[in-house]
Amino acid sequence: MTLRFDVLIVGAGPAGLAAAQAAASHGARVGLLDAQARLGGQVWRHDVRHPAPGAARDAINALKQVTFLGQHQVIAAEPQRLLVETPQGAEHLSYATLILATGARELLLPFPGWTLPGVTGAGGLQALVKQAWPIAGKRVVVAGTGPLLLAAAATLRKHGAHLLGIVEQAPQSAVHAFARQLLHWPARAVQAVGLRARLAGVPYRFGSIVRHAYGEQQLGAIEIEDAHGKQRLDCDHLALGYGLLPNTELAQLLGCALDYGTPEQASAHPHVIVDRLLRTSVADVYAAGEACGIGGLAAARIEGAIAGHAAAGAEAAASALLPRRAKERRFASLLAKHFALDPRLHQLATPQTIICRCEDVTLSALDGFTDARAAKLATRCGMGACQGRICGSALAELGRFPRSGSRPPLFPARLSSLVQATPSLSDEISRSST
Ligand SMILES: Cc1cc2nc3c(=O)[nH]c(=O)nc-3n(C[C@H](O)[C@H](O)[C@H](O)COP(=O)(O)OP(=O)(O)OC[C@H]3O[C@@H](n4cnc5c(N)ncnc54)[C@H](O)[C@@H]3O)c2cc1C
Repeated sequence: MTLRFDVLIVGAGPAGLAAAQAAASHGARVGLLDAQARLGGQVWRHDVRHPAPGAARDAINALKQVTFLGQHQVIAAEPQRLLVETPQGAEHLSYATLILATGARELLLPFPGWTLPGVTGAGGLQALVKQAWPIAGKRVVVAGTGPLLLAAAATLRKHGAHLLGIVEQAPQSAVHAFARQLLHWPARAVQAVGLRARLAGVPYRFGSIVRHAYGEQQLGAIEIEDAHGKQRLDCDHLALGYGLLPNTELAQLLGCALDYGTPEQASAHPHVIVDRLLRTSVADVYAAGEACGIGGLAAARIEGAIAGHAAAGAEAAASALLPRRAKERRFASLLAKHFALDPRLHQLATPQTIICRCEDVTLSALDGFTDARAAKLATRCGMGACQGRICGSALAELGRFPRSGSRPPLFPARLSSLVQATPSLSDEISRSST
């Protein structure tokens, strides 16, 4: 049986929740699906020990007349129809209008030792501890760039981690200039002051990068470099995040146009192109939140509401929110400007450094390849569980080659799910695997 919705939303983070509420308020039959079991997305991910923030509870409680489909992962798509995998099997969902609220993931940059157990993404470790990963008393360094480091560090401390420091790659001048600009976004300024207060006593280093992680079976120490030289620091966990990347794979699969920046300011990490009402280049497909470019929680919520109203045909309600969107998007460009990556980070991996951790492919094994598909076929780089989301994005960031286009299935899927694909999808899937 194929479930059918007027408005189907992929992603139940802040953008998807706002979209669902807005679309349902006009009487549309709304479906909201997510690969995760619970509502909330990344920032409001369920925490087994601590209650959800008030804003998350309000957004979830506000959902009325919305069908939530948890543990539903979209693995393939064709016009007006998605193939989703669930723990029970696979099913088709059809829609009149689709909203992509697929969010973002962390950018991880390879360096010697980055695959040791104990080295994770900053948001990744945050997600693990929310699911009761034992962190109490563990010595943790949080490193990378941007405000997400503070948010992750605050969660880790709340769960009992012993924070040795936050290692920010951006120079002090850039971070201070960013902080001064926050005065134009009072709610953000209050949030930032609150986070710093929760992290009182934790050293915050600027212009510093982690060059090396050491350990036999497990992380034991890291090497940090700043303007004064190198320093070795013993630790149990290193939580790293070099910013966020929009999840555009499903949009690409549907044929939505992506923005790679201008020739002068090209980006290795595209986002979905949308018009003022968040319509993509494909008819009846909208996008909202981080998939349209990294903008943070407030932008995601406003964009979700705009897309939800517009998808339900309520253009006036959507248009009324446009000034708020413009303000939040200005904040996004502020982030990009002040936390631009230090070019030294592109030089950390050595020829022996593993780039594709799923398939154990080193950087030198990729020498001579100029496109991701050729490299994948010859070395298996990107063929593992993450399907190139980590190594492909890192290689694009390092300037090796862009990520390859999106092909079904979007995630590793069971054979029994793939056989449920329609004939046209089956053809595409079998073409992808050759
Ligand atoms: C690991 C991580 C941790 C973060 N922690 C914080 C934080 O502590 N504080 C903060 O202010 N910001 C944090 N952020 C940033 C935060 O994600 C955004 O500001 C905000 O949550 C974006 O909302 P969104 O709805 O656009 O996307 P998200 O919240 O990312 O939600 C997207 C949802 O789409 C689902 N999805 C994607 N593709 C599919 C598919 N094919 N099938 C089914 N479901 C799919 C995902 O499972 C996810 O739940 C974090 C980001 C990441 C990546």
